Amino acid sequence: MTADRTAPVPLCDIQAQYRGLQDAIDAAVLRVVRSGQAILGPEVSSFEQEAAAYCQAAHAIGCASGTDALLLALHALDIGPGDEVIIPPFTFFATAGTVVRAGATPVFVDVDPHTFNIDPEQIEAKVTARTRAIMPVHLFGQCADMDPIWDVADKHGLYVIEDAAQSFGSEYNGKRCGTLGVISCFSFYPSKNLGTLGDAGMVTTNNAAIARKLAALRVHGSETKYYHKYLGWNARLDAVQAAILRVKLPHVEKWIEGRQAAAARYDALIESSKLSKLLHRPTARDYARHTYNQYVVRVSGGQRDGLMKHLKNENIGCDIYYPLCLHQQECLSNLGHRTGDFPVSEDAARAVLALPMFPEITEAQQKRVIDACAAFARSQQRLAAA
Ligand SMILES: *Cc1c(COP(=O)(O)O)cnc(C)c1O
Repeated sequence: MTADRTAPVPLCDIQAQYRGLQDAIDAAVLRVVRSGQAILGPEVSSFEQEAAAYCQAAHAIGCASGTDALLLALHALDIGPGDEVIIPPFTFFATAGTVVRAGATPVFVDVDPHTFNIDPEQIEAKVTARTRAIMPVHLFGQCADMDPIWDVADKHGLYVIEDAAQSFGSEYNGKRCGTLGVISCFSFYPSKNLGTLGDAGMVTTNNAAIARKLAALRVHGSETKYYHKYLGWNARLDAVQAAILRVKLPHVEKWIEGRQAAAARYDALIESSKLSKLLHRPTARDYARHTYNQYVVRVSGGQRDGLMKHLKNENIGCDIYYPLCLHQQECLSNLGHRTGDFPVSEDAARAVLALPMFPEITEAQQKRVIDACAAFARSQQRLAAA
């Protein structure tokens, strides 16, 4: 294979799916524009039914973003001032930001060094009389280890809310994301497993009363227009985004398979290039259907930043998810945490690197990525020998 040795490899190629589905997406957008049904309406409710079926959940409620999905979940369960919610510190900011926005207090539990997901063994020690919920994040497309999380939740009467923003289509022991908590929260941000061309999100639940409340909260807390039962806000899913999502949903399985095939190719390329010492491949657990929203390696020997610089010079997209843990964020400093409090998360923040990953990535592109990593490794060996 003669890969173009200089062509840029993007971290994520958002436009690839639009190119493949352009006629259908253009038609769907026009359909909404011409219908004049821009707020909720049939596109949103049809998408909700189709997405609920895919997630094997009884109810799906579309909303404006993954962040609103988390906030809706917390409000629907009346989690607020005085309450504590257990979350990992190694995740996207919204996981903690929404807990604080709801008026509750995030309580961090460190992550497993192999999966980067919340370490279930450490949860119970953080449960207090104020704890209301555990909010595991299924990071990078792999479910957190739910069995021991459900055990702690059952024992102490806590809700489990899934932050499934990165794991649409992922499974835990054959159960799909969307049913692993009392409420499950999804994002359709463009780079997620199912991504649209703007902001969008969704909550799912099997509980009919909670579904009704979520649907009301999304429209200012009203079940009857102008009569406000709850203190809600405007968190509606945009009808144009719903129409685009309806075009894309039937393809999501194929795209997930594309991600899994790409991950297997990276695994093999890292092995055959003898790079396993420099790049620790992602750990996929037996219980997980890993959907590889990201392919994140751990770079050993403190070489992450050097490798990232080298890849960028080679026009290869890569990024750090996440460079600063949530307990170290400036706006959460009032929680009183210090560097050193969650060593596994802090270590991950220093060592992880996301390599280019999208369903359409070619073997030639991946070979270029791994060849560039190998060239970096050789240059470091030469430096060490000199
Ligand atoms: C993307 C993401 C969110 C937020 O989703 P938005 O749609 O961007 O608001 C929340 N949690 C995690 C883990 C995410 O990756």
